Amino acid sequence: MRGTFDYLLSAQQTASVDVGSVLRIRFGGQRTLGVVTALAPTSDLDPAKLSQPDEVLDSAVTPELVALAEWMAHEYCSTTARALSLMIAPGAAQGAGAKRVLVAELTGAGRAALDAAPVGGRTAVRLTDRQRRLLQTLRQTGAAAASELGTDSLRRLAARGLVTLERRIRARRPSAHEIGAASATAPPLTPAQRTALGRVLESVKARPGAELLLHGVTASGKTEVYLGAVEAVLNAGRTAIVLVPEIALTPQTLWRFQSRFGDVVAVLHSALTQGQRRDEWFRLRTGEARVCVGPRSAVLAPLTDIGLIVVDEEHEGSYKHEGDPRYDARAVARWRAAHHGATLVLGSATPRPESVFALTRLRLPERVDGRPMPPVALLDMRSSHHPLHPETRMALADLRHAGGKAIMLLNRRGWSNFLTCRSCGRVWLCPNCEVALVLHRQGAFVACHHCGHRERVPDRCPDCASVSVARHGAGTERIEQELRDGLGTDTFGIFRLDADAPTLQARARTLQAFEAARSGVLVGTQMVAKGHDFPDVSLGVVIDADQTLRFPDFRAEERTFALVTQLAGRTGRGAVPSRVLVQTLAPEARSLRFAARHDADGFVADELTRRRALRYPPFSSLIRVVCSAQAEPDAGDAAARIHERIVADGATVLGPAPLFRLRGRFRSQVFVKATDREPAIEAVGRAVDAVAPAAAKRGVSVSVDVDPV
Ligand code: ADP
Ligand code: ZN
Ligand code: ZN
Repeated sequence: MRGTFDYLLSAQQTASVDVGSVLRIRFGGQRTLGVVTALAPTSDLDPAKLSQPDEVLDSAVTPELVALAEWMAHEYCSTTARALSLMIAPGAAQGAGAKRVLVAELTGAGRAALDAAPVGGRTAVRLTDRQRRLLQTLRQTGAAAASELGTDSLRRLAARGLVTLERRIRARRPSAHEIGAASATAPPLTPAQRTALGRVLESVKARPGAELLLHGVTASGKTEVYLGAVEAVLNAGRTAIVLVPEIALTPQTLWRFQSRFGDVVAVLHSALTQGQRRDEWFRLRTGEARVCVGPRSAVLAPLTDIGLIVVDEEHEGSYKHEGDPRYDARAVARWRAAHHGATLVLGSATPRPESVFALTRLRLPERVDGRPMPPVALLDMRSSHHPLHPETRMALADLRHAGGKAIMLLNRRGWSNFLTCRSCGRVWLCPNCEVALVLHRQGAFVACHHCGHRERVPDRCPDCASVSVARHGAGTERIEQELRDGLGTDTFGIFRLDADAPTLQARARTLQAFEAARSGVLVGTQMVAKGHDFPDVSLGVVIDADQTLRFPDFRAEERTFALVTQLAGRTGRGAVPSRVLVQTLAPEARSLRFAARHDADGFVADELTRRRALRYPPFSSLIRVVCSAQAEPDAGDAAARIHERIVADGATVLGPAPLFRLRGRFRSQVFVKATDREPAIEAVGRAVDAVAPAAAKRGVSVSVDVDPV
């Protein structure tokens, strides 16, 4: 719903309600939740007609989050209500609140009593053996649920000031292992790490803090710099958010934060149960946890007095939210950092040109272990008929012989790319989406990777009845089979990692199996290149590196460069000499040439020159409006009417252009390239508001994407 609505508070409610309070209300005859965005002594409406909230819930968001929601609504052409729905406590709508239990913790006096000589009469504090054991347990565990140790005994100790008893959120710990108190300590930092951390700490001390880009090659020890910065922020009594692209794929990062800081770290991510997420949310909201580690949505963590926000692997596309509001976690991080006077640190080995352009750059130019980057060879595939280049096959055979590990990246799931009829040229397309169906041999079906539509593999062409059907290209599944047939043995395992794995846990298991194996190959989509730290990988292979280049997108070069560089970063972390092979149909491509030289600076400089000339971000803002409908003319008409109404200085409006059909709906797109961001967003918002209501009556839905990825 759009806008705000007035409600009348009872005298009792007035005392407990503030901006951010979550209320159970009636709206249009239905029960729903409302968030207080402002308090007013009077209303323009007749007070007799105002309804009173049924209940005030204990899951209030902070006033800052309300302000953030209002900003997000404006910035991403959405509504404050939708933004707030991403921020309130998980499960609040179902009436779930925080669960508290009594927690015991040792006091200073308790510690002193334990340390005092146990000789009877000489110390002021007398302890029975059982009491001594209790205090010792508490010293080891840090804090514990009173019911587990004996509430009555603890109450007697509390009365003597040796322990504290406090109602706290019962945490359904998201981690399989006990976390408890912090255990790990920091290694001595390298000179480059020390310099970078020094700059971050200066900024943390200054308020407002700076916006920094930590540009460090893979394995240069960026995480260690984040840890040092978080420690300083915690010592200053403030809080921190650490964003990572995907927890299930890189559990090590989370683990490093937990083992350094213990229970003060909370995690928010989608693989948790709702109960776990709710507990973690309340731990953050009450200040019991002061560091939030998680993917994109963790940027909305209900923390106050934030001193630091870290965005690790800032180049990752997963920081963009694909639902409404289509927010970019990096931009939200920037807003919150500015609001709190916090320091913003974006880190990457392959930073976006936008970030290099806008932020102060700190560098970690070398790997922590001092090892050189592995050499990268570009292999021309233009005359090859086999999906693997002869040199790749030779390298794999050598690897099996010597017993090492390899990672192979192929950005395409399934068996082959698509099917065609050799007689009439028919291409098998998705009936809903107008994209080629991908063959999956396991299960013998073809599937659409957009909508999930599946059909049996055809015996013959339905158009011309020919039985000669050709399969083109190779997917992860086919490469896996190819490797299994050619190389796989009991000791040389072949592992596949892609979105075919049903759950995040299943993917984590594949990674663990590969890690535990003595030797073998991990083949998969871009997930195999994401931040893993396997010390014994000595060969990296990119199959069809230019596949990402063939997307009609101004970020295609950037993505290709990042993919090759990140894969190279997974390679050669151990003692064995290592190398990277990049198979490509476009060996001359700029992104590949720069990646082969490990030249991130050269690439970014070149890319910025190109973007300036073509007026792409950061030299403009892009806004995409997509209209979709059951009937083709409806989508096109709505897009045309929106196009007409977008008038803003310095904005070029392109389209309407038909897009391929998706999930059975016809789509039409309007694209805005604007030098002046704010007026363009407003102009698009006005145009959509003017056209969308009437269009909705004919089943047209309109979505706006600011800074599309
Ligand atoms: P990045 O985040 O840049 O990829 P990491 O912080 O993960 O790098 O560091 C790579 C590896 O080096 C990790 O195993 C980490 O524990 C280790 N490491 C980082 N800094 C140091 C240091 N100063 N001394 C020793 N080992 C370090
Ligand atoms: Zn045919
Ligand atoms: Zn489809």
